Amino acid sequence: MYSIARLCGIALLLGLLAALLLKNMLLGDSVDFHRHKALLIGVDGVQYEQLKQAIDAGHAPVIAALRPMMTYTGGMVGTATQQTTFSGPGWATVLTGAWADRHRIASNDSGLRIKTDSLFKLISLSSPTRHTASIVSWNPINDNFADDISAGFIELGVKCGGDDQCATERTVQELRTGNFDFIFVHLDQPDDAGHENGFGPGYQDAIAKTDKQIGLILDALGKRKRENADEDWLVMVTTDHGRRLPDGYDHGEQSRSEKTAFIGLNKPANEQLTQPISDPDNPALNGLYGLASEADVVPTILTHLGINTDPQRYTIDGVPLIGHVGVRQLGASLNAEKRTVELRWRVTEGSKQPLRIYRAGQLIAKLTDSSSQYIDSDLPQPIGQLNYTVVFNEVPVSVLVSDKSVKR
Ligand SMILES: [Zn+2]
Repeated sequence: MYSIARLCGIALLLGLLAALLLKNMLLGDSVDFHRHKALLIGVDGVQYEQLKQAIDAGHAPVIAALRPMMTYTGGMVGTATQQTTFSGPGWATVLTGAWADRHRIASNDSGLRIKTDSLFKLISLSSPTRHTASIVSWNPINDNFADDISAGFIELGVKCGGDDQCATERTVQELRTGNFDFIFVHLDQPDDAGHENGFGPGYQDAIAKTDKQIGLILDALGKRKRENADEDWLVMVTTDHGRRLPDGYDHGEQSRSEKTAFIGLNKPANEQLTQPISDPDNPALNGLYGLASEADVVPTILTHLGINTDPQRYTIDGVPLIGHVGVRQLGASLNAEKRTVELRWRVTEGSKQPLRIYRAGQLIAKLTDSSSQYIDSDLPQPIGQLNYTVVFNEVPVSVLVSDKSVKR
């Protein structure tokens, strides 16, 4: 027999439970991230000023509508992040959020395989119901990510062998009838035109033709969104590298024009994209490193998809371009003699929570003041490679420190 008091207790408990359930239903996860999807359009070898010229002439209205902003690629000259401004390393950064010291795609060799987690893998592992596709005109991209294809992290991998029409049509088809949560589509024609003719009417024409193909893809997406009003699509457009001045035939080196890229998107961007840092720590290349970078694409897409990667396992160098920024300009320098690592960063927004620092997955500091640096003097022996992650406003950003970093 239950006593009255006990029954009242149970009733109270049930009432509390019901109230909690109701609260969760009303206030809890009101955003259903499983209806959030992303389309990333990569256009090879588009130099920023040439894109602006095409936009100003009215020849690239579709890209223009995504408000492309200048970014940089190729890592930081003279550090372990430096990578050639070729397509292999460039697309590896776009699709991993990391530089060559992590992804290890140092050239256009299609035999290379990425050595860090890809966007495809992170999306795929976040939920068994999420599906990804990589549809590329330049085949070596899907070769570099072949391990993702064999592991099923990329469920649909299509190589179009330089045929942009094939990549466009396949993407349109998948948007019409497929059920992908993330599609990467790569178009190659501007890079081809640049290598063939340099800057000039042929290159401008290639940008205009590519813009029309992106238009076909976005028309298909528009139709899909009308039929599936609950889907919320992030659309991003970017490139893998710029081109060498003055003629635009080539790329691969570390000039400002070759390292200049762009990112456009269909959502309001945060200050990382819209308000470049005017006095970056490294002022080289006329302040290029104050801009957003190609490593920022991955965290932006993860943010839109609501994928919160555990900060203890976080290894992404970029910063999200939507929502909270986290810290910007994160840098690290190792003093091997003193056995210290100095971390530096910029904060351009407030936070109610302390800033947290992780070294190799372990929480090593919580800072409540507006610090912009931290010195870690508790380094393991040997130092080897250390991944640091700084979490601010619940946004993680990582940087890799190595005692074998060769300055190139
Ligand atoms: Zn090229």
